[in-house]
Amino acid sequence: MAIDEFARRIQTENKARRYLRQACWKNGQKYCLHCRSRHVYPIVGRRYRCARCGYRFADWTGRFLGGLRISAIKWVWILKLFELEVSARRIAREVGVSYPTALRACHQLRQAIVAQTAPALLRGEVEADESYFGGRRKGKRGRGAAGKVPVFGILERNGTVRVEAVPNVSAPTLLNWTLKKVRRGSIVYTDRWRGYDSLMFCGYRHLRVDHKRYFRQGKVYINGLEGFWSYAKERLAKFHGVSKQKFPLYLKEMEFRYNHRHQPLLPLLVQVAAKLVPNHL
Ligand SMILES: [Zn+2]
Repeated sequence: MAIDEFARRIQTENKARRYLRQACWKNGQKYCLHCRSRHVYPIVGRRYRCARCGYRFADWTGRFLGGLRISAIKWVWILKLFELEVSARRIAREVGVSYPTALRACHQLRQAIVAQTAPALLRGEVEADESYFGGRRKGKRGRGAAGKVPVFGILERNGTVRVEAVPNVSAPTLLNWTLKKVRRGSIVYTDRWRGYDSLMFCGYRHLRVDHKRYFRQGKVYINGLEGFWSYAKERLAKFHGVSKQKFPLYLKEMEFRYNHRHQPLLPLLVQVAAKLVPNHL
C-alpha cells in the first residue's frame, strides 16, 4: 500500500481506531475479558461494561496496544514506521511523541512478537547451526567467545527459522533445544561441531558438512541458516549495540521479520499488537 493511501485510511482518529479495533475483536464480537460473557454494552468514554460481572474495559484493555496512552492515529503510524525499520528516535520525531514513548512502543511490539504462541514443530529437512552476536572481537567457539551471546538456530528448508539466545553451545543445550523444536525422524544438517554428535542417538538423521573441506556437499549444507545470520546481524548493527537483557527481544524480532519477509508486515504487526498480554488480569 502506498504511503499516501495508507495515510488517507487512518486520517481521522475514528478511522485509525476502527483499523486497530478489527484486530482486537474477532468478527467485531466483544466479550468480557474477565468472565468471557458476550453480554457487554457500551458506556461513556468508549468503554464497555459486562452485564454479567460488571467489569469495565476498553478496546485496548489488557492488550499490548494498551501499554501506552497515545491516540490510535499515533499508534498506527508507529506500527507503520516499525514495519519500515525506522529507529525509535526517528519515530519520535515523525509521529510527534517523546523519545521514551517511542522506545516504549517499540519495546511493547517486540514483547508482543515474543509472546506469540509457538508454532508447530519443524520437520523434514532442517539445518541447525550456532552463531555469536555482539562484541567486536572475533571469538572462537566455546572458549574465547567472551562478551558475545551464543545463538542457536534451526531452519526448516523452505520453511521458517527459529532462533534463541542460549547460555552455551554445549551438547546438552543444543540437543535439548533441537528436541523441543524439531520433530523426531527429521533430517538435521549441521557442521562438524561435536556439540551435535548425539543427535543421531535421539531419533534424528544427522548429516554433517565439513566447512574446512567443502562449503557444500550435495544437499548437505547449512547455507539457509547462514543467510539468516547475515540478515539478522546486518539489521542488528543499526542499533549500535543492544544490551544483553534486551538482546533476546531483538533476536525474536529478526526471526519474525525473516519468517515473514515475503509478505506485508503491517497487518501481522497489528494482529500481534492487538493480542492480549498473557496473565494481564
Ligand atoms: Zn464479565
